[in-house]
Amino acid sequence: MPNIITETFGSAVFNDRVMRERLPVDAYEALRKTIESGKPLDPSVASKVASAMRDWAIEQGATHFTHWFQPLTGITAEKHDSFLAGEKAGEPIMEFKGKELIKGETDGSSFPSGGLRATFEARGYTAWDPTSYAFIKENTLCIPTAFCSYSGEALDNKTPLLRSMEALNRSAKRILSLFGVETKGVVSTCGPEQEYFLIDRDMYARRKDLIFTGRTLFGAKPPKGQELEDHYYGMLRMRVKSFMRDLDEELWKLGVMAKTEHNEVAPSQHEIAPIYSTANIASDHNQLTMELLRKVAHRHGFKCVLHEKPFEGINGSGKHDNWSVQTYEGVNLFEPGKTPRENAQFLLFLVAVIKGVNEYQDLLRVSVASAGNDHRLGGNEAPPAIISMFLGDELTEILESIVEGSEYEGSNRIDMEIGVDVLPHFKRDTTDRNRTSPFAFTGNKFEFRSPGSSSSIAIPTTVLNAVLADELDRFYDELSGAENFNEALEGLIKRTITENRAILFNGDGYSEEWVKEAERRGLHNLRTTPDALPHILDKENVDMFKRQGVFSQLELESRYQIYLENYCKVIKIEALTMIDMSKKDILPAVSTYVRKMSEVVSGLKGIADVECGFETDMIKRLTSLSTEMYRKMQKLEQLSDALGANTQETANHMRDVIIPAMQDLRASADEIETLVGEKYWPYPTYGRMLFAVE
Ligand code: ADP
Ligand code: MG
Repeated sequence: MPNIITETFGSAVFNDRVMRERLPVDAYEALRKTIESGKPLDPSVASKVASAMRDWAIEQGATHFTHWFQPLTGITAEKHDSFLAGEKAGEPIMEFKGKELIKGETDGSSFPSGGLRATFEARGYTAWDPTSYAFIKENTLCIPTAFCSYSGEALDNKTPLLRSMEALNRSAKRILSLFGVETKGVVSTCGPEQEYFLIDRDMYARRKDLIFTGRTLFGAKPPKGQELEDHYYGMLRMRVKSFMRDLDEELWKLGVMAKTEHNEVAPSQHEIAPIYSTANIASDHNQLTMELLRKVAHRHGFKCVLHEKPFEGINGSGKHDNWSVQTYEGVNLFEPGKTPRENAQFLLFLVAVIKGVNEYQDLLRVSVASAGNDHRLGGNEAPPAIISMFLGDELTEILESIVEGSEYEGSNRIDMEIGVDVLPHFKRDTTDRNRTSPFAFTGNKFEFRSPGSSSSIAIPTTVLNAVLADELDRFYDELSGAENFNEALEGLIKRTITENRAILFNGDGYSEEWVKEAERRGLHNLRTTPDALPHILDKENVDMFKRQGVFSQLELESRYQIYLENYCKVIKIEALTMIDMSKKDILPAVSTYVRKMSEVVSGLKGIADVECGFETDMIKRLTSLSTEMYRKMQKLEQLSDALGANTQETANHMRDVIIPAMQDLRASADEIETLVGEKYWPYPTYGRMLFAVE
């Protein structure tokens, strides 16, 4: 039997195997060096790579090539050119030059730049990222690229991620050298777990809110929601199963290591998780996965909904960013070690993360902030907007005993002098995964659970890498000058734990008590995007990014502007969609239904003993509710008309005035929905959408 994985895995990728086969030895080695050490590639080598890529792509049926990049719109962008460069004696000339591989010019004016590009300099350029393999998608050779302004500012999510990986490589190597560890380099790794909903395409097409905003803006609670929790890991329905199979195959061809597919807690919600890879590739692959989720869903008569909160009252979707750091030789630096030295090194990396998360809570919050994710964070289903860290009971006890200088009372009592004695080989905390924590240590990696399902993992991963690099740099400064390394190390670890205890929390992150407790501890509680965003420009944050060479002040200002604009635009579109749906669909549907009822009443008038209790009641309640709804809609309309430019002030106004007005309008409409006959209702209901698929 042919096996789909062994036969097709990576078949659409210009990967290491293909390069080895097709590139001259010197070109292959030069390219490998570039990939591993970031050394610039000689233009003559680029030409050889380009021509090998072209031949390979043409054999695979590709007719076009494109620089594939990730502007700050959140989705990927492409501009296709065909390989055709002319003809000679009736034969087509197919060309792809080194310079076309390395650099592309693009009219950047339609991509968000937050004022970085003055309008007269609309051009941007894309630059080949040789660390992420080129691939073929729909007969087009796609070259992963970074996207920058003409003066070199990053306009995308990839550039800062690559910079943060470089920073971490530099810092981690230096720290490791203090432990006598030689390594070719250090990389961050990610394995993003992606949640999504599958909705029947015909039903989706009848919901303007899903079409325009990605989420439902109206919808009464169905008789059955997720209370039975019978969907989680449940049997996959036939249609979903065949969708997943198809999706896996497409992903495998592109070299994406799709591994786990299962149902999630909410009805019609699912998850896909790959095997982890280096952060840059994981991020590219996650973008590809989101794209393929949408495409393959279409083929199977579904619409894949990636919004963070498509249905009120039903769990939203996140994207857990599993994150670790490892050497090129494959040693995971968050893996507790076996020898005292290894353990001391592990503890140093661990406390660097603890300190980093504590000091840059606000940046981590910003890295996951969006209008969509605001509905999730702080709801009773996703980690709260308060950033804290879960280590599990055992590791927490170990850290405590280090601070107290006491004996560790765990399973095998061992004196806890760092660097001298053996750290107990503690078990991974598998029993209590504590799903309520936004940032959990899960044995040999961290799981950041706050990112939203539609966002790019590049953003939070960039923050994590930069923050860790910065903490390691400060540790290096302290340790490298120390007379007695072991003593200095022990002091540093103790002090860091003591000073950053506030961020550690193993309890229930969903509880009200935690909100109060976090406030007592002085932790940030940045509930909404407008609350979080201004922190991008806090001095400590700007300084840290500058020190690590990850963002310039200008780039941060532009990002702040872009995120702010995006937030305001999203809410405005939602408000306008609600007004449109109310005016054109919902209120007219109520009128039709009421007319029907009144026809019944007047038709039966004069017939003795007929009461028409239902009809008259409905007429009274519905006309009163629809008047109320109409007034609320008018109010929202006035508020929306008066909206100004997309500033912080407008964003605050969205949060404080517009969103509550939208919720108010929704409340009336949802009540009306429970009263109007289903066949008069203009939209598929929650019940139909969530439970329809067989
Ligand atoms: P679960 O969270 O469901 O128990 P796992 O812990 O096995 O599943 O993995 C969840 C995700 O974390 C997967 O995508 C996996 O590849 C990823 N992962 C595992 N190890 C690492 C690592 N060292 N670095 C980054 N991601 C990792
Ligand atoms: Mg998980």
